[in-house]
Amino acid sequence: MKSTKILDSISRSSGDAQSPKTGSWRRIAPSYENRLSPCTLLCPCAENIPIWMHLVREKKFEEAWRELIKENPFPLICGRVCYRFCEAQCNRKEQGERVSINAVERFLGQYAVEHGLTTTPYTGEKNGLRVAIIGGGPSGLSAAHFLARSGFAVSIYDSHAELGGMLRYGIPEYRLPKELLARELGAMVTSLGIELHMNAHIDTTFEQVASEYDFVVVSVGAHRSRALLDDHGREFPFMSGLQFLSRVADKSMTTLPPDTHHICVIGGGNTAIDVARSAKRLGAAIVTVIYRRTEEDMPAHKDEIEAAKKEGVQFMFLTIPVWSYFDMLFRVRLECMAVQGEPEGGKKLPPVRIPNSQFGIDCDMVLSAIGEEVDLDFLGSRDHTFTSEDDVRGGRIYSSGDALYGPRSVSEAIASGKKVAEAIIARVSGSAKEPRPAALGDGDVKFYYLNKRRKNPEILNERSLTAEELRSFAETTFTITSEQAVEEADRCINCGSCIACDRCLDFCPDFSITKQDGVYVIDLDMCKGCGLCAQVCERGAIVFGKEQGDVNT
Ligand code: SF4
Ligand code: SF4
Ligand code: SF4
Repeated sequence: MKSTKILDSISRSSGDAQSPKTGSWRRIAPSYENRLSPCTLLCPCAENIPIWMHLVREKKFEEAWRELIKENPFPLICGRVCYRFCEAQCNRKEQGERVSINAVERFLGQYAVEHGLTTTPYTGEKNGLRVAIIGGGPSGLSAAHFLARSGFAVSIYDSHAELGGMLRYGIPEYRLPKELLARELGAMVTSLGIELHMNAHIDTTFEQVASEYDFVVVSVGAHRSRALLDDHGREFPFMSGLQFLSRVADKSMTTLPPDTHHICVIGGGNTAIDVARSAKRLGAAIVTVIYRRTEEDMPAHKDEIEAAKKEGVQFMFLTIPVWSYFDMLFRVRLECMAVQGEPEGGKKLPPVRIPNSQFGIDCDMVLSAIGEEVDLDFLGSRDHTFTSEDDVRGGRIYSSGDALYGPRSVSEAIASGKKVAEAIIARVSGSAKEPRPAALGDGDVKFYYLNKRRKNPEILNERSLTAEELRSFAETTFTITSEQAVEEADRCINCGSCIACDRCLDFCPDFSITKQDGVYVIDLDMCKGCGLCAQVCERGAIVFGKEQGDVNT
């Protein structure tokens, strides 16, 4: 007897698998088995995309949202800022373009906010354990969500006035509007009863906070900018990119200083691009990103680089600043040198200066965004070097997100918050999370069933902005309509997941499959092992295994 949870059905096989009544010649036997789709495998949060896509197709938007937040509490946020890891290997890629998973995810997040949907709180008896989370960014918030939903009393400590960490203070409004961010986070925090301690500067108070809780999760973000040094070993006197973004975010900077026409941004990561695009929106006529390697080497996401180019940001590659001074008119003179940095054996070598290549750039402001790091000084003499989410210090201090492995994407931070919550839950309950199902194999999805209606091109949600909108931090993408979301979800094959389409039941020539109270049952006494059910299952949710006791194998 085998049982597998598929949507709301439990599928199982019945009968004596070892001696079918139809004869002893059957060599293989079917069983229902959900397997991992490529999109779920690549999503850092491991969202069950095939299932929530199916629910969207059925127009069950609330159910789809509830299915999604089982793995990722923030679809509105990820639907705007995630780099769409899931779409890279979508099985529809070669069959009429990949599914716009991110656009549908964003629709669901928006739907939840607009319809006042809230996370279902924990309804069982609370376990009486208290967890302090240091850092109210994506990772800390995610840990808080999963712990609170499992019966822990959770408190978040954050040094900022508002919740969100990098989501609020590092990601510009045109990618993630603050008002929507506050709504998604607020709904989660309120519904789960999470206690907030904002403007809390955990420095000398860390030991005291730690002593008051059963567990502590260190989830602070990478809010400290790396120092950029000149040729004399002195720090360049430039504002950091993070400081600039934070001032734009909290509206303490709404315009550029008078006569600021040309801004140089040093760095090649996503922060540098966010800074450059924000500077353009504040009115800089010329924005130049200066990067020490080539465009291909830039750590910034390709989509962001392309968007910046479209908005008129200039790039200067293989260039490093060596020193700077202010001229008589208080303009900055940035002395630079050209470098070369040919990779050797696939490894990037440090850029090497080209002799006599020095040149100067005159500009009005320079912003340094060469990388961010985490400030863990508040841990004092405690060991700072956490190695994984279930690495425990002092018996009960855990870590997640940037604090654990340095700056990464928002969805990776959310996934890390979930993992640390799972580690604590497993420790308290003594039982680990169920292992993941196996991944789908090549040829398991039957593309020959795709019909023409479902071969529409993917729905893209990029907007072209007017010159006026470019100055107003208006969003650069839009939320698709419910009709578009359904249309897009209809293109999904739901790889690896049964969606109760009945096709296997209809095609079985021996009537071995029945549906009892919404549950598929294979009568192995009747099954001859012809394999037709697995052949007609477009999404590969039926596997054939070798018959137990088959002497011919
Ligand atoms: S979080 Fe990112 S990778 Fe995961 S489903 Fe959403 S867009 Fe895809
Ligand atoms: S077709 Fe659907 S389930 Fe399959 S990989 Fe693409 S989005 Fe995922
Ligand atoms: S054919 Fe349909 S009902 Fe049968 S396993 Fe596949 S998806 Fe489920």
